[in-house]
Amino acid sequence: MSLEREVDVVVVGAGFSGLYMLHKLRQQNLDVVVFERGDGVGGTWFWNRYPGARCDVESQDYSYSFSPELEQEWEWTERYPAQPEILNYLNHVADRFDLRRSIELETEVTKAAFDDGANQWLVTTDRGESIKAKYVVMATGCLSNGRVPDFDGMDTFGGEIYHTGSWPQEGVDFTGKRVGVIGTGSSGIQAIPEIAKQAEQLTVFQRTPGFSVPARNAPIDPEFLKEVKANYPQRREFARRSATGLPFNGGTETAMEATDEQRKATYESLWGEGGFRIGAAYADLIVNKDSNDTLAAFIHSKIDEAVDDPRTAEKLKPRDYPVSTKRICVDTDYYATYNRPNVSLVDVRQSPIVGFDERGLKTQDAEYEFDVVVFATGFDAMTGALLGPDITGANGLSLREHWHAGPRTYLGLSTVGFPNMFIVAGPGSPSVLTNMVSAIEQHVEWISDHLAHLEDRGLQRSEALSEAEDGWVAQVNGIAESTLFNTANSWYLGANVPGKPRIFMPYAGGFGAYRETCDAVAADGYRGFVLS
Ligand code: NAP
Repeated sequence: MSLEREVDVVVVGAGFSGLYMLHKLRQQNLDVVVFERGDGVGGTWFWNRYPGARCDVESQDYSYSFSPELEQEWEWTERYPAQPEILNYLNHVADRFDLRRSIELETEVTKAAFDDGANQWLVTTDRGESIKAKYVVMATGCLSNGRVPDFDGMDTFGGEIYHTGSWPQEGVDFTGKRVGVIGTGSSGIQAIPEIAKQAEQLTVFQRTPGFSVPARNAPIDPEFLKEVKANYPQRREFARRSATGLPFNGGTETAMEATDEQRKATYESLWGEGGFRIGAAYADLIVNKDSNDTLAAFIHSKIDEAVDDPRTAEKLKPRDYPVSTKRICVDTDYYATYNRPNVSLVDVRQSPIVGFDERGLKTQDAEYEFDVVVFATGFDAMTGALLGPDITGANGLSLREHWHAGPRTYLGLSTVGFPNMFIVAGPGSPSVLTNMVSAIEQHVEWISDHLAHLEDRGLQRSEALSEAEDGWVAQVNGIAESTLFNTANSWYLGANVPGKPRIFMPYAGGFGAYRETCDAVAADGYRGFVLS
């Protein structure tokens, strides 16, 4: 079937980014279609339904700020929202703003090609449809391309296999089952305590331990929520100007300025509060290894307190990268889970997984039989979903070629040679280092203002300049080099995907400063773009 349709904008993805992008562009009277591969809206929160899936940003802040009515009417129930609650929220948003009529579900964009003469994109979907659009907005998410390592013999395994990032909608019953979990990043650390409660036996295969802090999740105090709602404009404004897109600032003192007692008191207090604020306790934690070591030692001491078996505690202590250079995990009872008699931990650095057979998996030293294996092995982050479809820009250049040595963008929003294509929360923007919803709103608003600027002036084409992109890439790299980020084998650097270029992908200069740059670029007639 081949239907030739024409719209103003194709938006790819119906998560937080795509939904708001659609709403914004519709308000500008643009004809928009959203393609979404899932059979529902929600993006990340549609796919990541594993037990324990919960956001690590607090509910009242992990929400849209664009509609005061929405802010007032939605009632969050817990300090940190669980996946079903966020998915309900996004479904409510889709209904409330009448978005569904422009969203085509179970439709994957496979190809997008720019027609240089017509200044138009031709977008092809897996339904065999081709559609012309003046603009394409990639709202495909930073962590949407799940990665399952290619172990020998996996296809011979007779049990069930799941990845946390594409969990079955009907859920998985672990009761009475022997379960293996591979991976101990944020997803594994959330899923492990929940699976342990059900499974007969749980074996966790850990390659790199995570630094994890307690969430201290609880029902939201209605009085607190009332106060938040009364002060939402100020709270949001603060977040928009802050380094992280959250309504608080990190510590301004350096860890080295504080005494041992002061540091301990500060860390204890933030550990007691819960959440990842402890990672911003001092201004220099992400730039000074000695300072960072003080926090690492504190978290090690908490692991010792929580875990009964000293050998297991030792295995759980991250030793080879600084705190926060891999995303801090936020958990509920993660470390204490290893005190359960039905849970054991295998260090696959010491004894690597060699492969699967029908009954389970083998490491160098042992064999394990399982009914279910859960891969909590992460994502081809930030670029995976952008390089999935075959995208070719002006002069037939493919995005995969343009980014062969790593992603290159101007402001994380646009890339040279791909006119009229914009990325929400793309590589080179603060995205994953901030509150994603704040980052998404800022990008969506910048893109819609930009399209309004083009439309109002009858302009046909917007394209980033090479020197602007070169300058931005250098700036993003330079900022990362001034921090400890490059010292960890993290997904921020693509280090979790064999063969992926090792480039620190997010902009680490702070969300507030980034917003100012984007605003200044716009105020300066979109400096760094050629508009024609
Ligand atoms: P991840 O942080 O990349 O963790 C993947 C884990 O799998 C790591 O422990 C990794 O070990 C391990 N692994 C990968 N390949 C392996 C292999 N071949 N053999 C053994 N182990 C292997 O992925 P994630 O946990 O899904 O989290 C990704 C990001 O999503 C987070 O950093 C966070 O930004 C977001 N997230 C957030 C929340 C939340 O809001 N609470 C929850 C889940 C996810 P290595 O470290 O050695 O590579």
